[in-house]
Amino acid sequence: MPPRHRPPEALLATLVASRGRSERLTHTEHLPARLARHAPWPDTIRPEIRAAALELGIERPWAHQAEAMLLAASGQTVVLATGTASGKSLGYLAPVLSDLLAGTEAANGRGATALYLAPTKALAADQRRRATELAPTRVRAALYDGDTPPQEREWVRQYASYVLTNPDMLHRGILPAHPRWASFLKALRYVVIDECHSYRGVFGSHVSQVLRRLRRLCHRYGSDPTFLLASATTSEPAAAAERLTGLPAVAVTDDASPRGPMVFALWEPPLTEHVGEHGAPVRRTATSEAAYLLTDLVAGSTRTVAFVRSRRAAELVALQAQDNLDDSLAGRVAAYRGGYLPEERRALEHDLQSGRLLGLASTSALELGVDVSGLDAVLLAGYPGTRASLWQQAGRAGREAQGALAILIARDDPLDTYLVHHPEALFARPVEATVLDPDNPHVLAPHLCAAAAELPLGEADLKLFGPSTAQLLPVLEQRGLLRRRSDGAWYWTRRERAADAVDLRGSGGNPVQIVEVSTGRLLGTVDAAASHTTVHTGAVHLHRGRTYLVQHLDLETSVALVEAANPSYTTSARDTTSISVLSTDRTVEWGEGRLSFGSVEVVNQVVGFLRKRISTGEILGESKLDLPPRTLRTRAVWWTVTEDQLLDATIPFDLLPGAAHAAEHASIGLLPLFATCDRWDIGGVSVPLHTDTQRPTVFVYDGHPGGAGFAEHGFHRAVEWLTATRDAISACECDRGCPSCVQSPKCGNGNDPLDKAGAVRLLTVLLAGAPKPPGEPAGSDSASDGTGGGTEGQVGATAG
Ligand SMILES: [Zn+2]
Ligand SMILES: [Zn+2]
Repeated sequence: MPPRHRPPEALLATLVASRGRSERLTHTEHLPARLARHAPWPDTIRPEIRAAALELGIERPWAHQAEAMLLAASGQTVVLATGTASGKSLGYLAPVLSDLLAGTEAANGRGATALYLAPTKALAADQRRRATELAPTRVRAALYDGDTPPQEREWVRQYASYVLTNPDMLHRGILPAHPRWASFLKALRYVVIDECHSYRGVFGSHVSQVLRRLRRLCHRYGSDPTFLLASATTSEPAAAAERLTGLPAVAVTDDASPRGPMVFALWEPPLTEHVGEHGAPVRRTATSEAAYLLTDLVAGSTRTVAFVRSRRAAELVALQAQDNLDDSLAGRVAAYRGGYLPEERRALEHDLQSGRLLGLASTSALELGVDVSGLDAVLLAGYPGTRASLWQQAGRAGREAQGALAILIARDDPLDTYLVHHPEALFARPVEATVLDPDNPHVLAPHLCAAAAELPLGEADLKLFGPSTAQLLPVLEQRGLLRRRSDGAWYWTRRERAADAVDLRGSGGNPVQIVEVSTGRLLGTVDAAASHTTVHTGAVHLHRGRTYLVQHLDLETSVALVEAANPSYTTSARDTTSISVLSTDRTVEWGEGRLSFGSVEVVNQVVGFLRKRISTGEILGESKLDLPPRTLRTRAVWWTVTEDQLLDATIPFDLLPGAAHAAEHASIGLLPLFATCDRWDIGGVSVPLHTDTQRPTVFVYDGHPGGAGFAEHGFHRAVEWLTATRDAISACECDRGCPSCVQSPKCGNGNDPLDKAGAVRLLTVLLAGAPKPPGEPAGSDSASDGTGGGTEGQVGATAG
């Protein structure tokens, strides 16, 4: 039976009508088709480029592409923040290649150069192909990364005019060797930063300092390149681009590319008979629900991809669908996960395109590597973490004229619950921002050393590297890393390479290596900060979608020895946490309540772990662990209420710990809706009476030394963030708290105590004193659970 194309409304109606599912659809959004808006080519785009574009079937650019081209040519830092498949590449490539082409007419054949940065090697390789399609051969585009053979590197430095690389290579390979790149840097006209929303948190903070080092060297060589950035749609793209580059930026956000109509459904799986921690009701898992929906869609001959979070889930969903289908159809469902060979991927693409394959259960789009599009339906088992990934995955469905169906199936967590009950957070303007903090001294210090090694640091450089620089330089001098000479400049005086001291993707501390015992293979690493919680002895650890059992965590050597396993239980660490305020930077009075932002010290000790049966959440047992406490100095946002407010909210003191703890859990769950972080990036502590504030206090902190900008963003967006938190809790239909609202899978206190109703009253009384949010009444947002390197805990509420 060939695939059939049915209108998405009809597909959805069928799904809802069968198997008693009428209660599960929480919202249907009809996204109308969008017609293309074109604009003429700007005069600055060379005829050769226009001709090459025409060869590719592009007569004229879309309006947003033309706008970006004009801004680029005028030397303006510009960030193109439009949807997937909106031709962002052409928007920056046309002006870049035009200038490079003009540069080939210079006496040395290289009058202009450009640098392209992508977060991954694969993306850089793909972009090189696109550049060569658009540019005549005399524009020499070349990859420069860890795989470039030494004999080719010299050629790239001397002759290439468009160099495609990644921030790590720029940091380690190019900037420290800048004299060999002198002629390239002298002619540098553009720096392209692709997928710039991926430069967030600590990694983003590092990259922002690498870009400042690049700008400083360019200045020395007499060039002043224009920065062109491409981003997924986020809120405040210009502000993020400014923080990343240190330059004022203009955002182009009005997407003029065409789009087919889409029906986007929000779906909440039903509560089951099972009970979890403290008797909480448990919903059917999103993966299990996805398997049923995939079954029905395939049975109706609808080509569908179901996106899931892990390799195991991909296999389970495919298997379950195959079991449910009769023999003639079972063979037309497959799983896709990482690690496939290129020819296997091509075969899958071909089978989906031809219709031989009707259903595919796959891990996330980033891992997908398969070029599938034009599907009839896409299932998303759980919110993929950001709107950018959501639209990337949903965007796999739909051909130009025909409509497509996308269904977001909520997982059992507060962010997913919030989203399926607050569609405006997904379909109105974006609320999540790309957050980074270049001023973090832990990030800045090694880059000042690297910069000094590249060229001595003078007074004039202080401003470029930000306000913390002046205080840090004497500290680095004391540590014997830099030396100030009589000319007033700071020099790097050690023998080793300064740039080697920092790994842009690490987050401080020796990462723990995950080694498979039977093969001796290094599977990957986890940050030191998260290691006690995630790879302690006895932990069940999910790594790149595979499940392992940790046999031993050796802190001396920073190695976790693991073995592949398939246990019927998960583990969750138990810990104790204390927090103290080191300094308060900002405070806002919210009536009697108070919101603050500043520096804190968090002392956390993992003391044991629980084993829970996967199918039911039932607790199988608890084991003790003997791990040393860890101290983290970081940035936090915290709020307090007064005793009078507790009276108003009818929260007696014995209920306060549970109310504050529940509010803390849910707020950690919702912060990722506003700032692109995940649960490992933040942690929280709730305290009925805190020594430093002398009040009931809830803290949410960055899980990285020195902070990463997430808590600060929470401080600035606190009204919307905490309003969404309260709404998420009250939207949940459970009676006394469940994983969809106030329970956290990573709670260091075993989700005890928690008071759902108290949390709603507490947040309400706090928000009553808050300023009204800007704009319309809170089209707010939400996020997923959150703990980890930032663990999440609660202090002093109950004994132990
Ligand atoms: Zn609930
Ligand atoms: Zn907790």
